[in-house]
Amino acid sequence: MSLSKTRDLMRVAKFGGTSLASAKNIKKAAELLSTDYKRQYIIVSAPGKRNKNDIKITDMLYTAYDSQGDVRQKNLDLIKQRFYDIATGLNITLDLEGIFQDITESFGNNLGRDYAASRGEYIMGLIFSRLIGYEFIDASMVIHFAPDGSFDSEKTNEKLKEALEKVPLAVIPGFYGSMPNNTIKTFSRGGSDITGALVARAVNADVYENFTDVDGFMMADPKIVNDPSVIDQVTYDQLRALSYMGATVLHEDSIYPVRFQGIPINIRNTFNYDDPGTLIVSKSEGKPPVITGIAGKKDFSTVIINKNMSSIGISDFYKTATEVFFENGIPVEHIPGGIDSIGFIVSTHYLGPRRRDLLQGLCKRLDPEYVVIEDHLALIALVGDGVLENGSDTAEILRELFVSGINAEIIIKPPHQKCIIIGIRDHDYEKAITELYGSASRINQSR
Ligand code: ASP
Repeated sequence: MSLSKTRDLMRVAKFGGTSLASAKNIKKAAELLSTDYKRQYIIVSAPGKRNKNDIKITDMLYTAYDSQGDVRQKNLDLIKQRFYDIATGLNITLDLEGIFQDITESFGNNLGRDYAASRGEYIMGLIFSRLIGYEFIDASMVIHFAPDGSFDSEKTNEKLKEALEKVPLAVIPGFYGSMPNNTIKTFSRGGSDITGALVARAVNADVYENFTDVDGFMMADPKIVNDPSVIDQVTYDQLRALSYMGATVLHEDSIYPVRFQGIPINIRNTFNYDDPGTLIVSKSEGKPPVITGIAGKKDFSTVIINKNMSSIGISDFYKTATEVFFENGIPVEHIPGGIDSIGFIVSTHYLGPRRRDLLQGLCKRLDPEYVVIEDHLALIALVGDGVLENGSDTAEILRELFVSGINAEIIIKPPHQKCIIIGIRDHDYEKAITELYGSASRINQSR
């Protein structure tokens, strides 16, 4: 299916911060709304950076809320000025004085950091709705959180459906919603992607277009690999695996709502409309590449426990060991095991100050021969439909790593997942990503 050529589809479009950073960019975004076809529901982020040294409105709002007195007022004035520049550049009249007077008062009444951060999306939503003539729907009326702060999916879906049924064309600010006591709560950073996915689910969209400032999802981190190729098509599963391992473009939690209904996400570049971008789908169509993408993270540790299992029994061992990790609040990522020696791979960040307690707990409860912690491990995932299906591909990948002087210390193939995870030393990380990208591209081209 070529989505970009199909008319009469229900489309939800989300614009990220860079696409809305200045009046010029916003005009460009607005122009796209009726190019080819109509986009009915629009989700906006707060204005982002206009250039490398600029500050995102969301960050400016946090800073303003965290400051006091005159400094706070000065910070708020800077934010107001940015919105003035945008409104003036777009020829839009908006009572920014009144809006900022409310914000100043609410800051004084300690309405919270989430409230503060949400104002960027709120004002941007008002501006964009005026510009394109769509109705404005405040996210606090349709995105809901439960009393414990967790996201209330059912209530949100119900309220969104109810509101959008009556409104054929609307702008909804991303990133925030409301608590049962009417205070404002935000998702985590980048959360406008989630709002877009929730709207797409509620209106049963044919496609959720996510407009950003890059041509799509890159096959590898462009900060490491020079000009990596853009992925044409990736499945939800593959994307989740890549995002979990550190690849960014889309908020991780934006996949669940649309995946359930099989709504494709199309990541596109506002500034390069002719490029089809990346399509995220439930099942790959056509002939997918062997390796779709590569992503990784540094700073893992392996907690190696050595014990003669015949004295305890393997299931008791796992049960007790995982309990000790759980009691210390340390999430376990992977458990590669040998006969009498098992490694628990965890993020070094979580080990933090609990290192000693963890070691003591493991020694006390398991009476092992020894326990050691090895830090500075990096994990790299190679994700794709064909990964590991062909043993010679894996052999080639590992051989090329070896030839370039990188030792694969751990190799994990998660069951039922089309990916392979390679553990290497942190200091080899960038080199390994570059090498793996080279091997993966060669393998993909040879098919
Ligand atoms: N403006 C928020 C942020 O900077 C949310 C978003 O852009 O999605 O994180």
